[in-house]
Amino acid sequence: MKNQLLAWIEQDRDKFIQFLRQFVQAASPNPPGNTIATMQHIRSLLDQEKIPYDIRIKEQTMPNLVASSTFAAGDKHLVLNGHIDVFPVENASQWQSEPWAAEVHDNRIYGRGVTDMKMGSASLLFTYIYMQRLKEHLKGKLTLTLVSDEETMGPNGAKYLFSDFADEVTGTSCLSGEPSSPYTVRFGEKGAVWLKFVITTPGGHAAYAHLSPNAIDLAYRLIEDLRGFIQFKYTEPAEVVKALEESKVEFDKANGAGASKLARSIIVNVGTMKAGPKVNMIASRCEFEVDVRLPNGVTKDDLLDYIEALKHKHDFSYEVMMINNPNWCDPDSELAQIVRNNAHSTTGIRPVNVLGMANTDARLWRYKNVPAVVYGPTPIGMGGVDEHVSIDEALNILRVHALSSYDYLSK
Ligand SMILES: [Zn+2]
Repeated sequence: MKNQLLAWIEQDRDKFIQFLRQFVQAASPNPPGNTIATMQHIRSLLDQEKIPYDIRIKEQTMPNLVASSTFAAGDKHLVLNGHIDVFPVENASQWQSEPWAAEVHDNRIYGRGVTDMKMGSASLLFTYIYMQRLKEHLKGKLTLTLVSDEETMGPNGAKYLFSDFADEVTGTSCLSGEPSSPYTVRFGEKGAVWLKFVITTPGGHAAYAHLSPNAIDLAYRLIEDLRGFIQFKYTEPAEVVKALEESKVEFDKANGAGASKLARSIIVNVGTMKAGPKVNMIASRCEFEVDVRLPNGVTKDDLLDYIEALKHKHDFSYEVMMINNPNWCDPDSELAQIVRNNAHSTTGIRPVNVLGMANTDARLWRYKNVPAVVYGPTPIGMGGVDEHVSIDEALNILRVHALSSYDYLSK
């Protein structure tokens, strides 16, 4: 069967590349996150293949696709998850070619969203189609979820599916095609908490500094103490430590020197600041937003307790804008082992277990204690200029996704 799968992928080479290029051309920058044309492209292929699916909509411009097939009796339910919205383009003139043209140069496809994650989503879609042809050899259930509204962690995509259709989409394992690189498989993620702080003072004329403190000065002192959270003592789960110790060298190779250390550290980043109306006035208001990245072992409550304690020393108010707790699943789950083995036999590289530095929808499965394994392309130009994927790498990922889905559901 596995040879049959590889033969289909070989036959479909041009079809797959063509599909992926048109997938990128059906632009879906988020914000604003309108994915109607992009979803139509997917639907056309499934209609052509006569494969049924449902469209689940919370927000009209952000459709989500759920397709499910049940095979012979079995306990396993594999969910293939991808998103179809992409980052916006900031500096189109700096690109070598038009970001939405999906041009091919040197055997690479260039375009916004091709690595994050239209390549991975196209691969999961083709995998789903191939599994229909192998129906009588599979057990259990296979579900494909292609969602909108991922890039802004919005409520209209995977979160909506989990809130309204959890039984359909939870499954027993999840395979995601978010970027990882051939060197790594992701078994978890750091967490992220976004906070907005406000400091106010009476203010006044700058020459009369004795009459009011300056909100910007107070903000600097508060930020200094917020950064102190980096020293917070925590205990990491032993399995996470073991996996990350083993993958240090490759982690740095895939993500840049220092990545493996950062994956286990707290990061405090002040991302925006707005203050003061005029140079010769004492700033009476300072507003700033902070992004705190949490390694596994630190929870949002640890952070919020720390911030509450600062209230004894500083006068400020704050609100929590977003919380994604850190997450991980068994680095050696059945699906993880299957994916690593197929990656090795396909590429010659045995990927190691690492954490994602940023958040993806895969976290939602891990929050439900479902192992979620991420294996996708090298994140080149992701969110930046000249995003691209090598066609050879794209085909290898399709092979690994298809072979792994077959292995998981045929055993
Ligand atoms: Zn993504």
